[in-house]
Amino acid sequence: MSLELSRKALAVKPSSTLAITAKANELKKMGMDIVSFTAGEPDFNTPAHICMAAKRAIDDGFTKYTPASGINELKEAIVKKFHDFNKIDYTTDQIVVSNGGKHSLTNVFTAILNEGDEVIIPAPYWLSYPEIVKLAGGVPVIINGRKEDDYKVNRADLESVFTEKTKALILNSPNNPTGMIYDREELQEIADFAVEKDIYVVADEIYENLFYSREGHVSIASLNDEIYKRTVTVNGLAKSYAMTGWRIGYVGAPKEIAKVMSSVQSHQTSNPNSIAQKAALEAIAGDQTCVREMSEEFDARRMYIYKRIKECKYLTAIEPKGAFYLFVDVNKVFGKKYKGRVIENTADLADILVSDYLVVVIPCDDFGFPDHIRLSYAISMKQIIKGMDRLMEFEDALED
Ligand code: GLU
Repeated sequence: MSLELSRKALAVKPSSTLAITAKANELKKMGMDIVSFTAGEPDFNTPAHICMAAKRAIDDGFTKYTPASGINELKEAIVKKFHDFNKIDYTTDQIVVSNGGKHSLTNVFTAILNEGDEVIIPAPYWLSYPEIVKLAGGVPVIINGRKEDDYKVNRADLESVFTEKTKALILNSPNNPTGMIYDREELQEIADFAVEKDIYVVADEIYENLFYSREGHVSIASLNDEIYKRTVTVNGLAKSYAMTGWRIGYVGAPKEIAKVMSSVQSHQTSNPNSIAQKAALEAIAGDQTCVREMSEEFDARRMYIYKRIKECKYLTAIEPKGAFYLFVDVNKVFGKKYKGRVIENTADLADILVSDYLVVVIPCDDFGFPDHIRLSYAISMKQIIKGMDRLMEFEDALED
């Protein structure tokens, strides 16, 4: 026997968003005046009524195993939310609650992929998608969106990478890292493609409440029966309710997929945390004022950060329409000199920004776009102002 470790596990890259965020937090703890445009993590506390529900759960002794795929009351609340907000009709046996969005995605791909199945992932993409697909035995197939199309892909792009091994495509709208949203017509085109090719759509809609235009979020599964049958709609509580640490994600899926996911989960984690499920129930079924208030605040920050990036000399970005990220094109910085050092890539740039300007950004190499960085504006307005001032100072120090 050899002591070789799992090749599949070794092939996985650690999450750089989490690593860079941890580094930024460490520097802050050391007393440095860091501006951290890093993880997409709301700076708000989890709303009080949600925390109260968790406290009640503990006091009531709701601390035992629950059904593997989640408690029925929570599933009922999710069914209602899917009906009212997303215009999708699921029944409770189509809902699986898991330990966060990443866990939901892991279970989806475990349920649908066989070794070597291909999954189309439009780039830029959230860095965990390819790794989750690989862990489930799949092969990520990347297609690039173009800046002039707001980094979105269309049917022709999807056609160009389709093969007989294509099993699914990932659709993330509102998008991390671009902040872009697919409108109804664009979704219809993608849905027609998926139905014609008979593949699954894994629709990650975790940013659905962070949507800054009037037309409102459209879920691909709501378009017609055929696409509904092929779509798994993934969501979670982290972003909408400032509940990143609670780890509750959920899906609405065709019954057979939900059943497989549930049995996989029953061996993996038994069930999602019982107390967090009670908190999630309060979040989804309770008063939604907190969601509106947080979203309005993110919108104000979005408008501000976009105004400031337009004033920059070299950094450029398109206007984000959802989520809480600004996707910044840094091509014009490459080749410029800072204190005699030529900036050749996002690693150089990030390094200078942190060491000389105490600004931490996410290089987007792991998001499939090595000439971009991502700024999360899920931080206070005061921090955003300070961070943008520093980025402009940095630009002034650049030389040809
Ligand atoms: N999804 C968030 C982000 O992109 C949290 C960090 C992570 O899980 O990657 O920043």
